[in-house]
Amino acid sequence: MNEINLVDLAKSGLNTGRSDIATAETDAHTETARIMQICNACRYCEGFCAVFPAMERRREFTPADTAFLSNLCHHCGACYHACQYAPPHDFGVNVPQTLAERRNETYQQLAWPTPLASLFERNGLVVVMVISACLAAAVGLMLAMISPDLFWGVHLGEGAFYQVMPHTVMAGIPMAITAFALLSFIMGWRRYWQATGAKWRGMPALRDAISATANLRYLGGNNAGNGEGCPTEDDRSSHLRRIYHQLTFYGFMLCFASTSTGTLYHYLLGREAPYGYFELPVILGTVGGVILCIGTAGLWQQKKKMEPAVKSMKHLGMDYAFIWVLFWVSATGLILLAVRETSYMGLALAIHLGLVYGFFLVLPFSKFVHGIYRFAALLADAGEKQPQNLR
Ligand code: SF4
Ligand code: SF4
Repeated sequence: MNEINLVDLAKSGLNTGRSDIATAETDAHTETARIMQICNACRYCEGFCAVFPAMERRREFTPADTAFLSNLCHHCGACYHACQYAPPHDFGVNVPQTLAERRNETYQQLAWPTPLASLFERNGLVVVMVISACLAAAVGLMLAMISPDLFWGVHLGEGAFYQVMPHTVMAGIPMAITAFALLSFIMGWRRYWQATGAKWRGMPALRDAISATANLRYLGGNNAGNGEGCPTEDDRSSHLRRIYHQLTFYGFMLCFASTSTGTLYHYLLGREAPYGYFELPVILGTVGGVILCIGTAGLWQQKKKMEPAVKSMKHLGMDYAFIWVLFWVSATGLILLAVRETSYMGLALAIHLGLVYGFFLVLPFSKFVHGIYRFAALLADAGEKQPQNLR
């Protein structure tokens, strides 16, 4: 069903000599295709999530198909717990782990710029090194620009933050980093969309994909999103993973809204940060930060409780590193709010900025990309399953 037109790929400049996602017969692809063939004969799990109905629309599995299916999986683990062919059975069917291995491989294949794709390897270590370097750079930069008296001074009222770091430096660095991250995401999306042969099927498909993303439908335990949630290590089901994931997502969006309204205050209203405790940027940031801390701490705990057999051990560092950084970005934002009228403001601001800079630098090469590709997969899936597109 999902045929790839390699001539079009070549024309579009996508096929640039790297190991292409649409054609490379890697070990992870081969194992995914083997398992999907078994599942396609069995079909016991077809009501669990979007992966199985999408699988049933295919007779064979090309690298493009396995890339699409692996990014459609939410790694809930339900199909492993239900599978009569799971290890120690000779078939050795482990769908969550196999799809996770293939999915992580696609992150590397799709990464832009391509020479930086290896940052997905040993990602936990990469993230720690980049964050440490950014922390040191932020503190060092601040101390280089101002005297220790200013750094440890008490600064009150609007413009207090810019006593320790000029606005052009504080805003200019993240703007440049964010522009790079955005470009990287756009290129990654384009590569994914073209390489998997996905097609735009109109607004109904877009609405369905947004709805599935907004309520994390497939972490609900079935195709309708109203099941018993995700299985845990002790074979019970729980909605906690879905709840923590939603807290993380909406907390992040609120923090983004806080930064955006702060920017509007600065440029439209001519007001300088920090703003009053009951002003919109601070309210959004505080609520978002608290929600984000709870969400990321919960996700960390849920990940630890997950059945070890379904985890992709090779990439566990990437998962934990991303959650860890996101937690500390939000936690240091809250600490800054708490100490902003004390002599610790300079230090708290430097640490928070260092973490924010590091976070956005590693963003295109971190677990964050799962949101981009999963949404693309959900959008393609929503289009495929429209009645007129089924055959
Ligand atoms: S995971 Fe196992 S039970 Fe589920 S469809 Fe595949 S083979 Fe069947
Ligand atoms: S792990 Fe969950 S989301 Fe992934 S294929 Fe299995 S049931 Fe579907």
